[in-house]
Amino acid sequence: MFAAVAGSAFVDKLFGRKEKEADMKSVTAPTQARTPRALEGVYPPGPEHWVGDGFYVKTVFWPQIDAQMLSPFLLLDHAARKRFDPSAFRRGVGEHPHRGFETVTFAYAGEVEHRDSAGGGGRIGPGDVQWMTAASGVVHEEKHSQAFSERGGDFEMVQLWVNLPADKKMSEPRYQPLLDREFPRVDLGVAEARLIAGEIGNARGPAKTHTPITVFDLRFHEKGTTEVELPNGWTTLVFPLEGDVSAGPNHESIPSRHFGVFDRGDDGAVQLHAHAGTRVLILAGQPLDEPVVAYGPFVMNTQEEIVQAFHDYQSGRMGRLL
Ligand code: MN
Repeated sequence: MFAAVAGSAFVDKLFGRKEKEADMKSVTAPTQARTPRALEGVYPPGPEHWVGDGFYVKTVFWPQIDAQMLSPFLLLDHAARKRFDPSAFRRGVGEHPHRGFETVTFAYAGEVEHRDSAGGGGRIGPGDVQWMTAASGVVHEEKHSQAFSERGGDFEMVQLWVNLPADKKMSEPRYQPLLDREFPRVDLGVAEARLIAGEIGNARGPAKTHTPITVFDLRFHEKGTTEVELPNGWTTLVFPLEGDVSAGPNHESIPSRHFGVFDRGDDGAVQLHAHAGTRVLILAGQPLDEPVVAYGPFVMNTQEEIVQAFHDYQSGRMGRLL
């Protein structure tokens, strides 16, 4: 769903440089082939709120912050680890539509069950990802699974919205259930990556995407620095799910649940420093460079297309849940 957060209450360069670390860095700089990619900004998340009665999320970013800076990504909601008691009813979000983009749900703890009007659906558990292309329109529901509701337990999810280019917005909906075991593991020294979409070196993630995108998460198994090559000119976003990260030539801090944006014009390697146990989500994608008109559950290129989406939903043209 969509967080009703207005305005752009973000603070560029919110976090001061760590001069001491910067000095240490300059000592080692001459031995490195390239300097680390610069961070352009670090942004705090919005306030915590309920989505339906099943997802207690912080909206980490949303299109109104700066749609072109985030492109092709639109929105990120993080439901941090939270314990749910056993329940006779299934919590979640009831029937609602989407058009013009994709919703990508990452399960880290607990189970969600999705059902949509295009016949897609299924259950995803810890480590799994559901990549739903709403495109021309689906109506769906997102709920805790029956089994999880009955037994209760820890629940942690991320939902990412990925924009579609104008010529794909009215294409056929698609549903990709991606299981944890399908994701290649990439050894990045002090951290291990789980590759969901796109490429790291020779490894390739299983998700099919409509535009060039690389998505992976990282777990640090010891304290230190890891480095990954990502395409120059792409949008590159870093979201620490748990634990603080620092990045850039001056080791700027990206606190847990904030997000960092790398400089699109810098071709340096993306370097991240963190403690053992830190978990990070990395999103990289080729910017679409098209107008973004986002309204509630619809993301199109013009106001007229948003009005059309409302008409089409109300007249049942996006289908119904049976
Ligand atoms: Mn939805």
